[in-house]
Amino acid sequence: MSDEPSIPAGENQRPTGERRRPAGSVGHPAQHSPVIEPPLPSASLPAAQFSRHAISRRELLKSGARGASLLGFGAAAGFLSGRESKDATRWQIDPNQCIQCGRCATDCVLEVSAVKCVHSYGMCGYCKLCTGYFEPEPINLDEGAENQLCPTGAIKREFIEDPYYEYSINKELCVGCGKCVKGCNMFGNGSLYLQVCHDRCINCNICSIATACPAQAFHQVPLTKPYLLRGKGASAK
Ligand code: SF4
Ligand code: SF4
Ligand code: SF4
Repeated sequence: MSDEPSIPAGENQRPTGERRRPAGSVGHPAQHSPVIEPPLPSASLPAAQFSRHAISRRELLKSGARGASLLGFGAAAGFLSGRESKDATRWQIDPNQCIQCGRCATDCVLEVSAVKCVHSYGMCGYCKLCTGYFEPEPINLDEGAENQLCPTGAIKREFIEDPYYEYSINKELCVGCGKCVKGCNMFGNGSLYLQVCHDRCINCNICSIATACPAQAFHQVPLTKPYLLRGKGASAK
């Protein structure tokens, strides 16, 4: 099992074992257990000891070697501290800044982007006509492929009770294009949004999507709070 933090339960998948209800009755609070990686070994520097006596040539050479070794320790400590700061953070999208430009799907170094759509069930209206699910002018309000906005069929639509429907994201199929997010933000409650999934992201030093993002929506966030969640789960900002 990976030691990387994964999307908290309730953000991307409906919790199992509960009766499904429309928004406003019972929400699905995101539950995130902070994941803490083991600390990197730190280099302990030997205390420099200098003689007050006159230094012989041999001692001078020895002292030079010690100095070089201290410099080496210093460089190693600097390297480790840089590595520690990288390992202590993760790239994440601020959903309030994202303008759904589409680059999350095309600019990740991974063949299929590490960015996925997640769903805040507590914010969702469970609408029959979900503007994150349906094309702008659907032929029918049903699950026919021709009516769906998602290019990969990653959104599942399930009837709950009249007039409510539940929408859930299949993370394996989602490519992070943000089309559903745009639809949901334009006419719905904004319960669909994009997040970098840390069970996929390889935490590049410089995230190529962050570089390409026209909205500066990418940020480095603490490893202990690696998601910027909307709704009841919002705790990472
Ligand atoms: S690149 Fe930035 S603005 Fe575009 S979809 Fe990704 S986070 Fe949103
Ligand atoms: S429309 Fe795009 S972002 Fe939304 S679920 Fe489908 S693939 Fe993912
Ligand atoms: S850090 Fe790398 S793997 Fe992660 S989202 Fe950015 S480009 Fe993709």
